[in-house]
Amino acid sequence: MFFGLHVSIGKGLARAVQTAEALTCECLQIFAGNPRGWARKPLDEKEVRRFQSAREASSIKKVAVHLSYLPNLASADAELYEKSVLAMGEDYRRAVSLGADYFVVHPGAGGDGNKEEALEKVAKGINTVLTEVRGETLILLENQAGGGTELAGDLRDLGLILGQVKEAARTGICLDTCHAYAAGYELRTAQGLAEVWQEVEEAVGLDRLYLLHLNDCLGEKGSHLDRHTHIGEGKIGLAGFKLIVNHPALIGRAGVMETPRSSDQDDLRNLEMIRSLVAGGQGQDGQ
Ligand SMILES: [Zn+2]
Ligand SMILES: [Zn+2]
Repeated sequence: MFFGLHVSIGKGLARAVQTAEALTCECLQIFAGNPRGWARKPLDEKEVRRFQSAREASSIKKVAVHLSYLPNLASADAELYEKSVLAMGEDYRRAVSLGADYFVVHPGAGGDGNKEEALEKVAKGINTVLTEVRGETLILLENQAGGGTELAGDLRDLGLILGQVKEAARTGICLDTCHAYAAGYELRTAQGLAEVWQEVEEAVGLDRLYLLHLNDCLGEKGSHLDRHTHIGEGKIGLAGFKLIVNHPALIGRAGVMETPRSSDQDDLRNLEMIRSLVAGGQGQDGQ
């Protein structure tokens, strides 16, 4: 695996690449705009060019764009649903114009409605966006912690959604370790992980798992609490991450951390920590 961070675009898109590079990231994730706002103007062409040349000048291998927080693609509210699909389309358009490799989307929460219908809505939304916006950027569906009526706490939901997507080759999945653990999956033992990979293989196919969100988890296993913490400081712990980053199924995959940050030191420490766990790397115990 190779590693990176979610970085801020507060000082511009190109600066985000430079920040990631300075922090020694090999991959990065950004939002395409204000994650708490609906409004999206088309990206300024000059800014797109600056982003692309910053990327070319860097050693960043993969770029992911994360859909903003507000859309809910499983919403039973027709107005919110439509707005959500539009917003996904606009963010996807931005991801494509930036030349991002991946566009990460949460399936959302169905509310009190029927779950099959909610899964179908997400698939329909993805189909609409793939039809309206052509591009190479893969849409990756992310597992969630499964709190309340959230979809994809159960990894099989990802398969149920993607099974209804027409252009399968333009989609895949992103696995968030904190969300999986909070949803009840055992990530701290070889046996538990083997079961997770088996489930991913059956639901979607491990070859379509392109990206990991490597976050330690503050909540207990099965708590459904989506609260990220620093690598090694949560319930998954160093032993769990050591098993994850060395798993043969994940060779060559990108791992992005969405860990808390109060300064660059937090980011550097998490990168150093995760790299120290890789066998044959610079682990404290030589592993
Ligand atoms: Zn995530
Ligand atoms: Zn999360």
